[in-house]
Amino acid sequence: MEGLVEIESKVAPPIARCAHCEGMLPLGLGEITCLLCGAICRVTHERTITDLREERLPCPSCKTLVVAGSEERPIELICGSCRAPFRITPKVVKVEIGCPSCDRMLRLKPRPGSRTIACPACESEFSVTF
Ligand SMILES: [Zn+2]
Ligand SMILES: [Zn+2]
Ligand SMILES: [Zn+2]
Repeated sequence: MEGLVEIESKVAPPIARCAHCEGMLPLGLGEITCLLCGAICRVTHERTITDLREERLPCPSCKTLVVAGSEERPIELICGSCRAPFRITPKVVKVEIGCPSCDRMLRLKPRPGSRTIACPACESEFSVTF
């Protein structure tokens, strides 16, 4: 793939709920629009913002630790040591859900709303709501 080298952030954004319908909000911080009811909710999470700003990741070229300095993800940074540009992408969040039929743990990407999942172990289908 052409373009910037990407590294995944290690800081997971919080899973926030809509103040109006209790549905899951799309991941992120700041003004987030609920996909289920359209309400605009402000998501703030001091701890996560601090962690994101202070996150240090090794430069993909020279391994010098570079401080992100911002809670934005993705963010493009330039290594202070070798001047190589790279991008920090948001962490991929996964949530563990137990299959109601066989208790097998499934790792899913949380997404607003309900959806039907087929368990890979016992093939029974069940619906999940985040
Ligand atoms: Zn809502
Ligand atoms: Zn570097
Ligand atoms: Zn199962």
